[in-house]
Amino acid sequence: MRRFLFRIVPLLITVLIMAACVVPPPVPAAAPSSSGSSESAAAPSTNTLNVLCTPQVQWCEGMKAEFERANPEITVNFVRMSSGEALTRLRNERENPQFDIWWGGPVDSFIAAKEEGLLEAYDSPNADAILDKNLMLDADNYWAGIYVGSLGFATNENWLAEHPGVEPPRSWDDLLKPEFQGQIMVAHPSSSGTSYTAICTVLQMRGEEAGWDYITRYAGQVLQFTRSGAAPAKFVGQGEAAVAIVFSHDIVAEQEKGSPLLLTFPEEGTGYEIGGMGIIAGAKNLENAKKWFDWALLPETQELGPTYQAYQAPTVSGAEASLPELLEVNLINYDFQWCGEQKKDFVDKFTNEIANAEALKE
Ligand code: PLP
Repeated sequence: MRRFLFRIVPLLITVLIMAACVVPPPVPAAAPSSSGSSESAAAPSTNTLNVLCTPQVQWCEGMKAEFERANPEITVNFVRMSSGEALTRLRNERENPQFDIWWGGPVDSFIAAKEEGLLEAYDSPNADAILDKNLMLDADNYWAGIYVGSLGFATNENWLAEHPGVEPPRSWDDLLKPEFQGQIMVAHPSSSGTSYTAICTVLQMRGEEAGWDYITRYAGQVLQFTRSGAAPAKFVGQGEAAVAIVFSHDIVAEQEKGSPLLLTFPEEGTGYEIGGMGIIAGAKNLENAKKWFDWALLPETQELGPTYQAYQAPTVSGAEASLPELLEVNLINYDFQWCGEQKKDFVDKFTNEIANAEALKE
């Protein structure tokens, strides 16, 4: 028996050491999660669609459910990311893209993404329905517009009641008034397309020299910059500051939740966004991405927005705008091409010379 043990024990030890050295099977690359809030590994599958989703998470979740209902053979995974963060992510994943399609967020970032070779052209048969092809469809089919929304100001009504004699802002210069010192919230343009739309609006209206001078003073009025474009409406609704600079449809969405917000527009002119959509260069689930692209341009899909508290105007004929008055304001002739091409330089200038992007709130 002892002789047997002497023989078997070293053999067992050798087997155990060898087992410990066996290389584990490769872990699948991290893929977007279907929860939208975290990321997890998912096995590669042809029945998958990985969506980089920039609008508010509630709309992203709604679109996932609606698309899966229309295409039961496809599972949608999405990650919600603000425009600037999405662009950075696509740059970093250029060699091994994890997303198939990017849906939502101002087209300035899609123009920048196209310039950098991050998107794949797709000529959708449904693009024919786009209302204004010059404005809402890339000439080379790298992106298509899926919604339109104007920039506005949201002022907390309780704060106004506590400050008799103070008027809500009705011009860009009003934001510089002493009563709004440390009372303004807006997102940082490095992460947010909303905030970039605001600074590019000012630069177009005032020219670069006067525009940057204004932006420096405007940034000096800000209590805190946020990461996400719509978040300031929520915080101002909660009374953290007096005024938020956000898209007007996001102000309506907060009002719907019961926030005491008053919506005003800068009367001399305001900027607006065309929300974009584009297929990612090298998308692994290309056919599914094309299905989403076609589906997102259907009037019945665009009319789903208000179900998920998204009140942007549609871009295709046959779809009714839920709140057309949000675009019946003094809109500037926003130059999307110029703002898209300048995006990196303008964001770098803002970050390096005016306010860095550390410690952003939500
Ligand atoms: N959420 C909503 C509701 C929007 O309308 C937009 C604009 O396209 C965004 C988010 C864009 O997000 P961000 O400003 O965080 O890039």
